[in-house]
Amino acid sequence: MAGKSRKNKRKLRIIWPLTLVLVLLINANILIIINNQNLNKEYQKLTKTYEDNSKNLTNDSLKIQEIDEKIKSLNNIEEDTNNLEGEYFKAIKDLEDNILNHKSNSKIAYLTFDDGPYYNTYKVLDILDKYNVKATFFTTSINGENCFDNPKEKCLSLYKEYVKRGHTIANHTFTHGIYRGLYSSTESFINAVKKQEERVKTETDGYVTNIVRFPGGSSTAGSLKSSIIAELRNMHYGYVDWTAEDGDGGNLTSTDMAWNTLTSTINSNIEVILFHDYNPYTTEILPKAIEYLQNKGYLLLPLFYESNMINK
Ligand SMILES: [Zn+2]
Repeated sequence: MAGKSRKNKRKLRIIWPLTLVLVLLINANILIIINNQNLNKEYQKLTKTYEDNSKNLTNDSLKIQEIDEKIKSLNNIEEDTNNLEGEYFKAIKDLEDNILNHKSNSKIAYLTFDDGPYYNTYKVLDILDKYNVKATFFTTSINGENCFDNPKEKCLSLYKEYVKRGHTIANHTFTHGIYRGLYSSTESFINAVKKQEERVKTETDGYVTNIVRFPGGSSTAGSLKSSIIAELRNMHYGYVDWTAEDGDGGNLTSTDMAWNTLTSTINSNIEVILFHDYNPYTTEILPKAIEYLQNKGYLLLPLFYESNMINK
């Protein structure tokens, strides 16, 4: 018996460690399998994320392409608009040539408004809109940022309004300082033109103006006139005075007076009419003036650099 039990003990001594090794091996395998399963899941997740991202990237690049194409077509529109504008002005210039050479019975009137922007300019713009008439605004910065005729309001936003409503913005010098040194030298005049040019550019995000009107008219420059004009020419600017007016820059005392002055000065087939957009008499007669001119057969147009009326 003692021999048998010793044999069993020896067997057990061998079996136990073997069993232990076997158990450990099985456990390790299970762990590896579990690990593999986890890795597999991770792998699938990663693959899905990668696929999603690639899809998004494809979508994004499609979107970028789309935006690119839109930008390109917008650039084309800008180009087309410039071309159209060029063709339009060329056609008006040809019409002017024919009128001046008595080959056409057409008539053109250029409505021009000096010294703005004012708060009253909004009224002027609304009247022009009502008749679908485009005009020219000779702007100055004499009034500062707030509206001279309504200091609670800012008037600088009117620059964008001129552009938005399709009018021509022109230069009437930054200071308008007829009695404050504007005409003391060619340089002071040119500086005031350049400063106003910058104001227009800044307030409109890039509108370039190349037409100027001398404050008081070009004769006010006296002996400096020819050197100022030469300098303006170097800067590719033209200047214009006027051929008709309602007298609103002087001492108007009634709408009748404005009306009589206006109608007595209109007598050519091409007119450049001087108004001031601060004057209430002008605002009052403006609708009637537009109708009067249209009934007389005048086309009411905005000024442009190439026009025969612009001195270069
Ligand atoms: Zn003026």
